[in-house]
Amino acid sequence: MGFHLLQRIGSMQVRSGIAVSPGVVVGPALVLGSENFRIPNKFVSRDAVDVEIVRFNTALNQVCADIEEHEILVGEQLGSQYAAIFSAHLLMAKDPRLLTEVEAMIGEEAYSPEYAVSKVLRGLAEQMQNLGDEYLAERASDVFDLEKRLLRKLLGESREEIGNLTQPVIILAHDLTPGETATLNTEFVIGFATEVGGRTSHTAILAGALEIPAVVGLGRCLAGVSGGETVILDGDHGHVVIDPDEATLKRFRASQEHNNRVRVRLQSLDTVESETQDGQRVYIYGNIEFPEEVTQCINRGADGVGLYRTEFLYLGGNKEPTEEDHYEAYCKVLNACGDLPVVIRTLDIGADKVPARIRDRFADSQNPMLGLRSIRLSLQSTPLFKVQLRAVLRAAVYGDARIMFPLVSSLLEFRQAKMILMDVMEDLEDEGIPFRRDLPVGMMVEVPSAVILAEEFAREVDFFSIGTNDLIQYTLACDRSDPSVANLYRSGDPSILRMIQTVLEAGERNGKTVTVCGQMSSDPRFIPLLLGLGLRQFSASPHSIPRLKEVVRNISIPEAERIAAHACSLDLARDVEHYLLGELGRICPDLVV
Ligand code: PEP
Ligand code: MG
Repeated sequence: MGFHLLQRIGSMQVRSGIAVSPGVVVGPALVLGSENFRIPNKFVSRDAVDVEIVRFNTALNQVCADIEEHEILVGEQLGSQYAAIFSAHLLMAKDPRLLTEVEAMIGEEAYSPEYAVSKVLRGLAEQMQNLGDEYLAERASDVFDLEKRLLRKLLGESREEIGNLTQPVIILAHDLTPGETATLNTEFVIGFATEVGGRTSHTAILAGALEIPAVVGLGRCLAGVSGGETVILDGDHGHVVIDPDEATLKRFRASQEHNNRVRVRLQSLDTVESETQDGQRVYIYGNIEFPEEVTQCINRGADGVGLYRTEFLYLGGNKEPTEEDHYEAYCKVLNACGDLPVVIRTLDIGADKVPARIRDRFADSQNPMLGLRSIRLSLQSTPLFKVQLRAVLRAAVYGDARIMFPLVSSLLEFRQAKMILMDVMEDLEDEGIPFRRDLPVGMMVEVPSAVILAEEFAREVDFFSIGTNDLIQYTLACDRSDPSVANLYRSGDPSILRMIQTVLEAGERNGKTVTVCGQMSSDPRFIPLLLGLGLRQFSASPHSIPRLKEVVRNISIPEAERIAAHACSLDLARDVEHYLLGELGRICPDLVV
């Protein structure tokens, strides 16, 4: 994969991926294997090396004894062919080179036994993965298994679980699911980077929500990393540096300081409205996943919540949310917003957002992004859908709630969803429960069919919100979470610009508002273009609101229209994005470094 830059300078490794949540942080690495524990010390004191070598030998002997025991047990119960797996593990554990290399690292360089074991075994696994032999690459998992066994013995009870951190770490992992990301302890996890993932994967979006600097799509690079190494994570440009030298650390610290200065300067915009230089009022709403994030929106002077991804009520916890859980969450957001609008999107469960409890239901799907997802699932699971709708209608009494259906791909779907909403109103009425009947009902435009039929939809909906994350995925046939096609997943593609234009025109002709709530709205480069196309409503990650306001306040509508006209005349995504970056640098130089 050509976009993964990997350089090794001494022990320093520089890796490039996709920047998904801004900020530069420096801290010790915590590499997540399946055990999710971290190596507490990289070094031991010189005086202690003899004791530490004995500690390593004891752990190694115990591990060999354990494997022998398993070998006998499995041989007796399942037969010798299965016991052979453990014979192979034992050979590896007893390999004199392992002993010599680990003892040398402890004895000569005072590395801790945990770090030395991990370094030696991960180095071996990395070599096996890179030999180009599929069988050997698979056998690397045996090496990781041995590493885990040894670490478990060495760390014993003092093993630090990820849910139980006591000091700041930068997490490096092959992947993190949206559920795992949602439960990261933001007090101690100061950043994370993953080998897989794309710009608009839900894990990436969550990193922005949690305001943790993050890089995804690094490609395979963690086999040789043990944890405990110093890591620089640059969430602005998508770089990860493992074991940086002094000069590199200095350069990144300067960039960290620049960011902090810009952030502090932009704080002055929190209390001002978004208005262009020629007085056009522009509305910037926040996208949220958790009720708590509403504070970040309000503090930054958002005009409301333009997208509340309610499915996160289902991810992370292991209990099915009740109507009261929904109601409580919605009331919290509505109360915090006062008179400001709150767009509550109904459940978008499926694809990469599947609660662990119902994973089996999706197990047979060959293509989950095109499968039972979102409004399709809600329409097939009416009781689940009704629980949510009842709560939204009840909570709507307390503020300006609006309801939005995701991933609508046909008029029939929209009509069916609305009919269920009407049914729920009837039920509440019969039960004498207070609710709001006249709340606006809109839809997300994130499937090409919805763009093609925008005119027809515009006659039936109260508003549109363009979900560019999925719209790009489905238009360009490009998985939003797959780093191997990240270079093809382009917001600046001419087909996407034309689709946005089509929806804006249909909205305009039918007097329906159009918002863009995909990540394209959170990217300052696209603000002049979208303004120039006629968009006046943006819904973005809360952390990006100050930068969006800065762009809006430094541009006039005629200038934005000139930029949009030129961008639309270009026929390559690459040229569009390059041009827009140049324009942003001219309008707001501080935002482009
Ligand atoms: C989108 O698809 O652009 C969107 C906002 O929805 P989500 O990212 O939750 O799929
Ligand atoms: Mg979407």
